[in-house]
Amino acid sequence: MEIISDDEIALSLASQEITVKQILRKHLLECPPTMPLFEVAKLMSEARCSAVIISDGKEPLGIWTERDALTIDFSSSDALNQPVERLMSRPLKNITGETTLQEVASRFLEEGVRHFLVVDDEGGTLGVVSQTDVVLNQGIEHYLRLRKVDSVMKDNQLVFGEEVGLGEVARQMSQVHTDAALIRYGTGEYGIITGRDIVQLIARRLTDCRVGGLATRPLITIATDASLYRARNVLVQNGIRHIGVVDGQGDVRGLISLTEILFGVENVYVQELRQALAERDQALQHSQRSLHLAEKVIESSLEGIVVTDAQGLILSVNPSFTRLTGYRAQEVIGKTPAVLRSGRHDKAFYSEMWRRIREEGNWQGEVWNRRKNGEVYPQLLTIAAIRDEAGELSHYAALFSDISELKDTEARIRNLAYYDPLTHLPNRRLLQDRLSVAIAHAHRSQGRLAVVFIDLDRFKRINDSLGHAIGDQLLQEVASRLQCSVKEDDTVARMGGDEFVILLSDIEDIEQVVQVARRTLEAMSLPILVNEQELVITCSLGISIYPEDGVSLDSLIQNADSAMYRAKEAGRNSYQLYSATMNAHSLEHLALEVTLRKAIQEEELSVHFQPLFDARNETLVSAEALLRWHSPTMGWVSPSDFIPLAEESGLIVQIGEFVLRRVCRELQRWTALGYEAVSVAVNVSAMQFRSKDFLESTRAVIQEYDIRPGQLTFELTESMLVDEAVENIRTMNALRKMGICLAVDDFGTGYSSLSYLRRFPVDTLKIDRAFIRDIDTNQQGASLVAAVILLGHSLGLKVVGEGVEREGQLRMLQGHGCDLIQGFHYSAAVDGVTFEQRYLPTQAVGE
Ligand code: C2E
Ligand code: CA
Ligand code: CA
Repeated sequence: MEIISDDEIALSLASQEITVKQILRKHLLECPPTMPLFEVAKLMSEARCSAVIISDGKEPLGIWTERDALTIDFSSSDALNQPVERLMSRPLKNITGETTLQEVASRFLEEGVRHFLVVDDEGGTLGVVSQTDVVLNQGIEHYLRLRKVDSVMKDNQLVFGEEVGLGEVARQMSQVHTDAALIRYGTGEYGIITGRDIVQLIARRLTDCRVGGLATRPLITIATDASLYRARNVLVQNGIRHIGVVDGQGDVRGLISLTEILFGVENVYVQELRQALAERDQALQHSQRSLHLAEKVIESSLEGIVVTDAQGLILSVNPSFTRLTGYRAQEVIGKTPAVLRSGRHDKAFYSEMWRRIREEGNWQGEVWNRRKNGEVYPQLLTIAAIRDEAGELSHYAALFSDISELKDTEARIRNLAYYDPLTHLPNRRLLQDRLSVAIAHAHRSQGRLAVVFIDLDRFKRINDSLGHAIGDQLLQEVASRLQCSVKEDDTVARMGGDEFVILLSDIEDIEQVVQVARRTLEAMSLPILVNEQELVITCSLGISIYPEDGVSLDSLIQNADSAMYRAKEAGRNSYQLYSATMNAHSLEHLALEVTLRKAIQEEELSVHFQPLFDARNETLVSAEALLRWHSPTMGWVSPSDFIPLAEESGLIVQIGEFVLRRVCRELQRWTALGYEAVSVAVNVSAMQFRSKDFLESTRAVIQEYDIRPGQLTFELTESMLVDEAVENIRTMNALRKMGICLAVDDFGTGYSSLSYLRRFPVDTLKIDRAFIRDIDTNQQGASLVAAVILLGHSLGLKVVGEGVEREGQLRMLQGHGCDLIQGFHYSAAVDGVTFEQRYLPTQAVGE
């Protein structure tokens, strides 16, 4: 607050400035930390500045303000010679010049400071911005107009006799946190002494005088019942920062300062802002909010308020204006309210309105206006002409409330019949209407159409465990995602519950429909943020095509529904076409499945090992077992291609056991050779993990090969932690009891919630390689990974960086304390024999 200069007060409120850079004070006073106080004061007095930045020539260390000047102990003779660094305030926090005022305002609240140092991209200092500067630029005029001088007057007004010493005056001013005091002379006259005067006196080393000879006379005054707006104008016009307040009898009651005026307004503004922030999450609670505000502001802030100048240009608007119209202050300030016009009223309407305002001073009536989103709505509008003391028209103030609620009721009742009230999507009835129209059209044009039936996977669990409110929000988000994955003229309808239908009319080929299905699955796979919780929901889709899969409305919907059930059976999060012949995808699957079965019999599968190294000393610690399939007809088939298939067909259980056997066989060999410190991580798929005899067969294999269970780690994916949690925890605990370690694989790709991890007995966190990919080139990516490592450690987990291919990535991970490194930078997976020859001899024998 102290930073603002008188000239800056005159900053036009009507300006459209939006970034900090633009409202920055230009001249910044700087001094070294060792400069004696009286010299700093001299610097400030000469420059008529209220603050100095203390800097060591390279960077700012702190700030010294007029208010700080009052805390000096004037009774000590040496006080004015001490270096400024002893009394400065610090630290000064930074923001960049590009920050918008809106953002700065919230930062002030968040950080609890009143000044920010404004820096440019290179970190160079541009200046200082105070909370006041920001408030002044946020359109506060209507508050000033609505409040009177006595509303901000403080009780503890300081009045001194003319013979009191300056030191005493300063001491008391500092004590009651005021930067001005009244001086009452024997003659009954009043004078004033301010913080700025005191700085001047410090500069002149005149601090041991009586205050009577130093005060400014005569005192400029204003009446208690004048508006703050007038008080502010008097201050600005006279280039002063304090003004005396006189009551009806002409007695001086005290002083008010610009600081207090702004602080009063600031409080209101800050509360508004805080409210606005809270409103992002909560529905607007009129009554709650009203409690906090001064009487008149209560009524007004419930309604939209616009203040214009005499020409009708908008000077300021309040937050409700934004809420009701959709326009933010910066978007309308400087324009005329005509931007809000709906076009529903003719010229005559407006000229009659203006005639009444001119002649009678106000107008009230119903007006149709247009919101920023284009929506036309009715409002109850009151416009008042405001005249200044001389009777000149100076401003217009408009107050309005939205009465569309009333008008809407009727329309809403009509809507209910066709639209789903929760998601605003067409309901079953409207879908049926549209589908029958589309069928008739397709029939005439010999075209095709598709019905896609969508059902959310395991929605019931979310609804039951997290509550219906969250379930509702989730459905709304799903609805909007579905709508984004289709063209404008396709229909997305909600059938009820967690079932949706997409109607695609005019399709050219099946591929087009499959594309939509894929896009939908993809759109769904991104986590949904509800109440600061990340939820992941998948869905299953079934598709039927007109005319192949049915020619009637009912048969198309029914067949899409049954295809959807097949998608669920096939493992969810996928789509199925109704007619098997068209299900090219599933055909392909079938063929591959047959081949895979044969591969198991013919022993085309093998297990390779990829080494993991200690990040600090780069020595071998363990290996991950990775499955390899070499098919005589297809060559190398990637596990990412056949593992999902093996899961769908159930073959994964058999394959998983095969991998575990191979791994244990190698471990047995290596132990016999003396390398028992090496451990191996085995990937366990969800289906395998859930299968009934997983624990039993694991135990049996370990016994058969006589393995120390600590040599084994099972890698689980995040989704397994989230899914059917209770069962899974039981299995995990049983594995841990056997001595097997657990790792979370591919961390960051799916559910990415560290809070899940807290609940599970895991030892290791593997950061997915998608996150590692650009950490040496992308600052944001790097800090994300750094944060994950930190969080992992705070949960007591070992952290592995996967997919490390470059030196730069390695350095980055080492720098952030990552424990283990895996990736092509060291080695790809190699067969057991190669692994043994290449890595084990470097491994110390025994532990
Ligand atoms: P994963 O568990 O994330 O395994 C790591 C994958 O990253 C491996 O792919 C590995 O070869 C690859 N990789 C390692 N370092 C690098 C690197 O620096 N750059 C790049 N680009 N890639 C690297 P792979 O062997 O193709 O395995 C793919 C996925 O298949 C595995 O991902 C795992 O989910 C699954 N999988 C592999 N073997 C098994 C198994 O025995 N059982 C089960 N259930 N799943 C397996
Ligand atoms: Ca893995
Ligand atoms: Ca992985």
